[in-house]
Amino acid sequence: MRAVVRLIILSLIASLFAGAADAAPAPLPRLVVILVVDQMRGDYLDRFGFQWTGGLRRLVDDGAWFRRAAYPYFTTVTCAGHATVSTGAFPRTHGMVGNSWFDRDTGRGVLCTSDASVTTISYGAPVAGGNGPSRLLVPTLADEMRAQLPVLSRVVTLSGKERTAITLAGHRADAVSWFSSAAGTFVTSSAYTPTPVPFIADALKASPVASDYGKTWTRMLPIDRYLFTDKGLGEKPPAYWTSEFPHVLAGSDGRPDAQFYDAWTTSPFLDDYLGRLAIASVNALKLGQGRGTDFLGVSFSALDSVGHDFGPTSHEVQDVLARLDQTIGALLAHLDRSVGAGNYVVALTGDHGAAPIPEQTAALGIDAGRLDAATLTQAAVKGLQAAFGAGEYTVHSQYAELILEPAVVEKLRRDPRALDQVLGALRAVPGVAGAYFGDHLDADAAAGDRDARAALLSYYPGRSGDFVVVPKPYWFYVTADGTPQPGSATTHGSMYAYDQHVPLILFGAGIKSGEYLRAATPADIAPTLAHLCGITLARIDGEVLVEALLPAAVPPPLPARPAGAPKQ
Ligand SMILES: [Zn+2]
Repeated sequence: MRAVVRLIILSLIASLFAGAADAAPAPLPRLVVILVVDQMRGDYLDRFGFQWTGGLRRLVDDGAWFRRAAYPYFTTVTCAGHATVSTGAFPRTHGMVGNSWFDRDTGRGVLCTSDASVTTISYGAPVAGGNGPSRLLVPTLADEMRAQLPVLSRVVTLSGKERTAITLAGHRADAVSWFSSAAGTFVTSSAYTPTPVPFIADALKASPVASDYGKTWTRMLPIDRYLFTDKGLGEKPPAYWTSEFPHVLAGSDGRPDAQFYDAWTTSPFLDDYLGRLAIASVNALKLGQGRGTDFLGVSFSALDSVGHDFGPTSHEVQDVLARLDQTIGALLAHLDRSVGAGNYVVALTGDHGAAPIPEQTAALGIDAGRLDAATLTQAAVKGLQAAFGAGEYTVHSQYAELILEPAVVEKLRRDPRALDQVLGALRAVPGVAGAYFGDHLDADAAAGDRDARAALLSYYPGRSGDFVVVPKPYWFYVTADGTPQPGSATTHGSMYAYDQHVPLILFGAGIKSGEYLRAATPADIAPTLAHLCGITLARIDGEVLVEALLPAAVPPPLPARPAGAPKQ
């Protein structure tokens, strides 16, 4: 009897494989596109989406929209977010714990992409220093595409910032370009190419950034299409602008200088330029038009600068998005013509959100404020003096983290009472919600502390601080040498929803459109795109968003076990 049952099961399996062989295999996307909008909050889609008619509109309407997507970790900043998108891992795995961190070997802060072994390759004025992917500890999706696909993928990334262009690309690429104020144009790195890439040089020459000099940024839409007010409480525009439109892009002495380039990167002109450079790259390298699958990554940076200065309800933020909608629309229309609609797949997301401007929150009677990070170091020193007696203690601060002398950390490890005194001093600082000793994050998280869990996902031993200090909701730190500058109206970098919740939309080849309400994170983007390309990522924290895949792209399901069949 048992043999008969086994025979039936075997024939069921055989028929399943026969069926699978008959079904047309899912075609590989010819181009994978990742679009990251720096500082784009998830709720902008609901709030401002009615203003959009172009590419953002198309992605929302025709894509697979994961409405609850959010980063689950504490340090919601640019470098960490982009590395999470490109690798499918969280900072605890990919190692990009912040835009910068304290390097214990040299006793100095380092940028996440700084690399003394490489040089900057400039398309304009020479630029000192070097940036590269050496601190990114896992391969990116683009790296794995190049490694695994039978036809070598061409990889292009473009951005207003080095840390986003580099992290989106990974360890090798055909063109990785970002804007540099010091160069007055775009630059790249000897990590990718020993000389300027000819097609990028041609595109920059054909349309110099300086040709935007003297232009005026005005509202694109009629004023009654904007929500909230143009002159919001607590806005901190750059010194050369007011909080109200229009904004002129000019230098301090009538020519393109640092002020002009600062204004340009705080305006939609930057994003528009990136969109045109992306189209030029598609044309020059015939991306998505060869035999393999290529990769294009664009990080639109303007929203971050604008959001920091004007805040998330400002007319400026709404206008950057309304114009980005047109920029992305033009890019998608170009991909339809050159690659073919349905032959490419797009992922759209943000790298982090942004807090409301504290003055606006406080005016509603809700506790909110800014906290000078130096206050934390002073509190730590006081705690150490209370624990160990008067003396000199060196405490470095890196945003929400504190780094102590190794010998002092060792003493704290052996002295729980002294550790409690330091933690108590930090927790007593106004605006602080909680303080954690890095060594204990694992245990604190295991005990059910949600903030500790979020901090742990951002924590990489040796790079992260000895202490992690969590601000209260609507509070954030300002530092002289970190993000943001003390003059910023607002910032991001916490585990609160306004910082963690971002858009996540998949669109195009192999994607089933719709709205999806399950929890998701931007770490799911790379695994899902890898699945569509038929490749694997070795070490991920995210997962494949199977609900959004068209049936052909999902592996065939196992046969249902017939009722009464023996367990196997
Ligand atoms: Zn920012």
